Amino acid sequence: MLCAPLRLERAVLRAAGREVHTVRTGLGPRRAAATAARLPAGPRLVAGLGGGLAPHVRPGDLVVADEVRGPDGVVPVPSAPLLAGALRRLGLTVHIGPVLGTDHVVGERERASLAATGALAVDMESHRLASAGRPFAVVRSIVDTIGAPLVRPATVAHGLAGLRSLRAAVPALTAWAAATSPRQLLLASPRSFCAGVERAIDIVERALEKHGAPVYVRRQIVHNTHVVRKLQDRGAVFVDEVEEVPEGATLVFAAHGVTPAVRRDAADRDLAVIDATCPLVTKVHNEVRRYSNRGDTVFLIGHAEHEEVEGTVGEAPGSVVVVGDVTEARAVPAPSTEGVAYTMQTTLALDEAEEIASVLRTRFPGLAAPRKDDICYATTNRQRALRAIAREVDLVLVVGSANSSNSRRLVEVAEREGTPAVLVDGSSDIDLRRLAGAGRIGLTAGASAPPHLVDEVVAVLGGLGPVTVAESRLTEEEITFTLPREVL
Ligand code: SF4
Repeated sequence: MLCAPLRLERAVLRAAGREVHTVRTGLGPRRAAATAARLPAGPRLVAGLGGGLAPHVRPGDLVVADEVRGPDGVVPVPSAPLLAGALRRLGLTVHIGPVLGTDHVVGERERASLAATGALAVDMESHRLASAGRPFAVVRSIVDTIGAPLVRPATVAHGLAGLRSLRAAVPALTAWAAATSPRQLLLASPRSFCAGVERAIDIVERALEKHGAPVYVRRQIVHNTHVVRKLQDRGAVFVDEVEEVPEGATLVFAAHGVTPAVRRDAADRDLAVIDATCPLVTKVHNEVRRYSNRGDTVFLIGHAEHEEVEGTVGEAPGSVVVVGDVTEARAVPAPSTEGVAYTMQTTLALDEAEEIASVLRTRFPGLAAPRKDDICYATTNRQRALRAIAREVDLVLVVGSANSSNSRRLVEVAEREGTPAVLVDGSSDIDLRRLAGAGRIGLTAGASAPPHLVDEVVAVLGGLGPVTVAESRLTEEEITFTLPREVL
């Protein structure tokens, strides 16, 4: 049910999307309360014009309430990030924050004092239509703001801007309405941070504590935008190459590892290096060195563009040949069928990597293999845990950044089980349209994705209807890695 206070607002919403069920609530809290009493149980979305409070909220901007404040208390709006994300993807300017309910039109002087409460916008109806027990959302398209109150010549232009934004918002509003339903969430476990990622983050945090900001980090410490942003806020400076680091500064190598050439460059610049390379990546580097030192050609099964592979190849550039898929495995040349070995990138899909290795083994019977699989325990566990639940759900959400190899492999694992899957960096990335009809959702996260992001996804989905959450635990992970002495 789309609730529009004014006839004009309702007309704009209906003109843009006739399939939406709209109701006019009437202007002001008293009429809104009377309408609320008549409305059937079910989801409610309040959409209309509103007044801006915060200075950065301008006419034509949209404010999505993450909570509605009124004289009777505060009603949280958990699905706000989903709706805000959908509106932003429509190209609209969206702010997310508290919407304050009043019983009168707010004047300029009062606006300043209300802004001090942290609320972004003000209206007169939402707090009377709000209800914590049902899917509920509020979108206000801003007309009057600080410095541009109502009853000014510019109000007409601002009103038109507000109505245009309201009209443009309709696809997101209808998607929100279509996505509301009760749901079952099935959490794959293990998921999120692995020991190598925790160690790498710990190293940067300890380096910041010990040496103070800035601490330089070559490339993303782990492939996750949230982790990188948080460390940037604390004083970490991420660089692409060693040359960008001032001589004598502290530099951390990321978890994916570096080539020996990068280590030499750092030494030449007299940098205080702290190595956060995951020990399981170092193990693959050691294998490559061992094979190449005895004269073998080394097939490295992996993705050539990935930083881990870049670092591993650098151990023996003349001896390592990257094999990206089965087709390449069938065609890759080698000087002889003897003196060949293979290793793997740590974050590959298990079945795909095994298929490639099998082709190589058939072509090169003397192929030497690592004693233990190179695909790490964390990648293996997350893929197996997801495979165990993928067929039981309508949709899989994988929390992870787009450049996270192991997160992308999780999407592929679900898809190979026949279940659609999407990679989301955070809750606001979830496309509401994918949720419509998805009553059972599987949830996992790549090894570089912080656990709290999964909690946030569970919370926002709870704003679309009641959720039951179950966890499917494949195994316990108790692995930890020791820290380098430089940060102890
Ligand atoms: Fe290490 Fe595996 Fe984690 Fe990569 S995913 S950091 S290899 S434990």
